[in-house]
Amino acid sequence: MPAQIIDGKAVAAAVEQEVRADLAKLPYKPGLVAVRVGNDPASEVYVRNKARKAKELGLHGTELVFDALMREDDLLSEIRQLNRDNNVDGILVQLPLPKQIDPKKVIDAIDPAKDVDGFHPINVGLLHLGRPTLVPCTPAGVMRLIGSTGVEIAGKRAAVIGRSDIVGKPVAALLLRENATVTICHSRTRDLPGIVREADIVVAAIGKPRFVTAEMIKRDAIVIDVGINRLDGKLAGDVDFDRVREVASWITPVPGGVGPMTIAMLMKNTVTAAQKRRG
Ligand code: NDP
Repeated sequence: MPAQIIDGKAVAAAVEQEVRADLAKLPYKPGLVAVRVGNDPASEVYVRNKARKAKELGLHGTELVFDALMREDDLLSEIRQLNRDNNVDGILVQLPLPKQIDPKKVIDAIDPAKDVDGFHPINVGLLHLGRPTLVPCTPAGVMRLIGSTGVEIAGKRAAVIGRSDIVGKPVAALLLRENATVTICHSRTRDLPGIVREADIVVAAIGKPRFVTAEMIKRDAIVIDVGINRLDGKLAGDVDFDRVREVASWITPVPGGVGPMTIAMLMKNTVTAAQKRRG
């Protein structure tokens, strides 16, 4: 029997409903500010979509756009101002930034309590300590998708392919927190197919279309595909969906899997940040 499809749109819609319900209980509108520097076309779309979704759900969504030639110091002082603004609950800075600006300095400047992307070193540290924190949105979305299958994570073997700070590492930390036995694979891993074949849960975050083939997948594994690649003018994940589907028990499609979760989890993080900061 082919794998069941994990419907990211449906799970994201459920998360959005939770956000609406939480918002209805708050006497104020949490504020999310998305900062963009320059006019990278992909960033423009991402930031616009984030601000739009915030407004649609009833948050106060603002887009701050600065010139591509902006100085690093000026961006840092804008961030400090947002940190001080009591109406701002969540700050996100869309990456990549122009080359004169060091993204590490910018992330470090964000108040950890408002760091809804979960990239600040304090939040990263808390995540790896297994303590409550603002969790990066895509990894949080991956966990919700795995959770939606109803399959118990504790005790399972998980392989995370990719070790980026944005996806691979936080996904691995979250799976470990749920008591999976986690292996992180990367470009220097020896016998990657052999390792992945042992896994009950596979999360692919590589950025290479159809890298994960059916031969790498254990029968009845759960396969989460984070990859977004362009192949022959279409979107393709990191997993060879059609063939892996014949082996796995659950699988996410691309598009319509992890993608829709990221913005939904961002909205959830903004509400969480507001509730925590404002009491
Ligand atoms: P990065 O490029 O930062 O990281 C890719 C990782 O894959 C690296 O750790 C790299 O290893 C590893 N890798 C690359 N080639 C191989 C290989 N041949 N064998 C084993 N490992 C390999 O990417 P991101 O983590 O930022 O993103 C991964 C994918 O997820 C991309 O397609 C991206 O577009 C997508 N994405 C989707 C999101 C969503 O909302 N759905 C959000 C964020 C990302 P090494 O460290 O050794 O170089």
